[in-house]
Amino acid sequence: MTEKKLFKKVLIANRGEVALRILRACREMGIKTVAIHSTADADSMHVRLADESVCIGPAPSRDSYLNMPAILSAADITGADAIHPGVGFLSENATFARMIEEHGITFIGPTPEHIEMMGDKITAKKTMIDLGVPVVPGSDGGVDTDEEALEISTSIGYPMIIKATSGGGGKGMKVANNAEELPQALRLARAEAKANFGNDQVYMERYLRKPRHIEVQVLADMYGNAVHLGERDCSIQRRHQKIWEEAPSPGLKQEEREKLGKIVTKAIAKLGYRGVGTLEFLYEGGEFFFMEMNTRLQVEHPITEMVTGIDLVKEQIKIAAGIPLDFKQEDIEIKGHAIECRINAENATTFIPSPGLVTRYHTPGGWGVRIDSHLYQGYKVPPYYDSLIAKLVVYGHTRAECIKRVERALHEFVIEGVETIIPLHQKLALEPDIQSGNYDIHWLEKKLKG
Ligand code: ADP
Repeated sequence: MTEKKLFKKVLIANRGEVALRILRACREMGIKTVAIHSTADADSMHVRLADESVCIGPAPSRDSYLNMPAILSAADITGADAIHPGVGFLSENATFARMIEEHGITFIGPTPEHIEMMGDKITAKKTMIDLGVPVVPGSDGGVDTDEEALEISTSIGYPMIIKATSGGGGKGMKVANNAEELPQALRLARAEAKANFGNDQVYMERYLRKPRHIEVQVLADMYGNAVHLGERDCSIQRRHQKIWEEAPSPGLKQEEREKLGKIVTKAIAKLGYRGVGTLEFLYEGGEFFFMEMNTRLQVEHPITEMVTGIDLVKEQIKIAAGIPLDFKQEDIEIKGHAIECRINAENATTFIPSPGLVTRYHTPGGWGVRIDSHLYQGYKVPPYYDSLIAKLVVYGHTRAECIKRVERALHEFVIEGVETIIPLHQKLALEPDIQSGNYDIHWLEKKLKG
C-alpha cells in the first residue's frame, strides 16, 4: 500500500464548541484550518483561532451553515482538500457529501450511501435486522393510514410511539397510550415531521416504559477494520434531548457490554462502514433494542475519549485520509469513568433560551476536568442557534469520584450575563438516584414535574 498522507487544509463546516474541537485536532496534526461563519458568528472563537476564515452568509442557518454552494465556494477559494462537517447542520447530509466529493474534496465522514441508509430510519432498522442486530418491535415500514396503524397496534400493544422516518433531535415523536389516542398522535407526528423534515412519513414502535438509552461508539477504516469503544449511557434527557451522559453505563453488566459490543462491531464490519458512528439502543429487562445509527461525531464523544484515551476526531480525520486504524479491539481498554454535563444557555427551571452577552466567564480546572467551549468573556451568545455553550467533561478513577468531581467543578464554573442550566446539573450531582445509577430515560422528566 502506498503511504497515505494527511490533509493539508481542512475546512470546518460548523460553529461553536464543535468547530473548536475539530480545529484543535487539526492543529495538533499539523493541518491548516479554514473557519466558515455567519455574520452573527464573526467574533466566534473558532474564527479567531483558524488559519483562515470565510463569511458564508447571514445569521439564519439555511443561509449560512446549511448553504452548500457557499461552503463549497469557501473550500474552493481557500484550497481546502477536506471538509469536516462537525455535528448537526450538514453532517448527515448525503447530498452535501456527494457534492463536495464530486469536486475533488474529501468529506470527513462515511460514504453518502451509508449516510442515506441510516438517515432513513425505516431502512436503517431493516438493515440492522438483516445484520442480526435486535431492534424495537414495531411496524415493518412506514404507516400510511389510521386503519393500518390500528392493525399494527393490536399485534404490538400499547403504549406505542410514532416516529418520523427522517426524524432527529427528538422531533416528530408522539406517544399513544390507547387506540383512542392513536389518530390524534398520528396526525400530530405527521404534521411535526412535515414541518421539521419536509417529509411526513412516520413509523411505529412499542413504547418502552423504563428503558435506558445506551449507545455504542464505533470506529472503522476503509480496509474493513472495525472496533467499538464501549458504550455511553445518555438516559438523562429532557424532551428526548440529552443533558448528562456517562461512560461506561452504571446499568450494564460486563457480559452484556461485551455481547453488545460484539454484535455491533460485526454488523459494522459487514456493512463496510467507514468513519466514526454511533448505534443507539434502548435497554430494558436485560434486552437491547436498536433505535438508530448516527453516521457522524456525537456531542457526547469526549466521555468515550476520556475512558479510552482515543482521540475520536483525529481518528476520524485519519480514516478519511485513508490511513488504516493502528489498534485492534483487544488494544482498547475502558478505564475509569467519565461524565459530560451539557451546559445550555437556558433558564434552569423553564428551559427558555437565554442568549446575550457573557459578562463574566471562569472555567473550572484541576485533575480530570475538561471544558469544551467556545465561550469567552465579552462573547455574545447569538439567538439563532442551538443553546449548547459548553460541555463539562469530567474523569474519575471510579464513578463515585467522578460524580464528586463534577460537583466540585460545577462549583467553580462561573458564567454570567446569560442564564445556564448549571444549577440543574448541581442538583443532579447530588441526587441519590444519580449517585446510585438508578435511572431510566423518563427519570429527569418525572423529577422536573416534581
Ligand atoms: P432522534 O433521532 O430524534 O434523537 P431517537 O429515535 O434517537 O430520535 O429517539 C430519541 C429518544 O426518544 C430516545 O433516546 C428515547 O428517550 C426516546 N424513544 C425513542 N424510541 C422510543 C421507544 N420505542 N420507547 C421509549 N422511548 C423511546
